[in-house]
Amino acid sequence: MIKFNCTSCEQSYRVSDTYSGKKVRCKSCKSINIIPSPETQKTGCGDSIAAYNNLLKELLKAEKHSPTVEMES
Ligand SMILES: [Zn+2]
Repeated sequence: MIKFNCTSCEQSYRVSDTYSGKKVRCKSCKSINIIPSPETQKTGCGDSIAAYNNLLKELLKAEKHSPTVEMES
């Protein structure tokens, strides 16, 4: 099962894994959403580790892209 929310109105949907990457029209606001892959939507004991790893990656990325700051003396 893939759980996702409409990007426009936050309506939550649950669809089969086979719909991953497909476009769906939201029933309430009619906007098009692309169903995410099930890998990013896992729940359970492995979820916190995956989330932590993703957070680390994002932090590293942010660090690389952030401009250098000079300290004022
Ligand atoms: Zn919607």
